[in-house]
Amino acid sequence: MMKHSKCILCNSMEISELKGYERHQLSQCKSCGFVFMSRIPSIDELHDHYKLYSYATDRTVSPLTIDSYNKLLDGMEKYRKLNTLIDVGCGKGWFLIEARKRGWKVYGTEFSDEAIRICMAAGIEMTKGDLRAEAFEGFTV
Ligand SMILES: [Zn+2]
Repeated sequence: MMKHSKCILCNSMEISELKGYERHQLSQCKSCGFVFMSRIPSIDELHDHYKLYSYATDRTVSPLTIDSYNKLLDGMEKYRKLNTLIDVGCGKGWFLIEARKRGWKVYGTEFSDEAIRICMAAGIEMTKGDLRAEAFEGFTV
């Protein structure tokens, strides 16, 4: 089993198991406070997970979710320099659709072919895969 040896946000080596969440294998960074799953799933596990999950079943998004997306986007305005936004693991693309309404040029990544198809049908430029840098070479920023 592969595990993260450092914080996936700030690269600090000072991470420890989050007490009370050992069953979920959560780690917390002592430097920045970020909480993340310490175990890195294998490619086979990812395929199994996405095989079981269907993106097509729920085609609507709640107004509460849209509201929280817009609050997030409000907070991102100060970082808006290139006007491009990528959502890694964007699901059905709802967040990117909201961002696009505000004029962002949006990109998404997903592991699921079904999610990629749904996003591309909504006009979102997509790539398949994980967080390797090569995964983003196809984007035309
Ligand atoms: Zn950190």
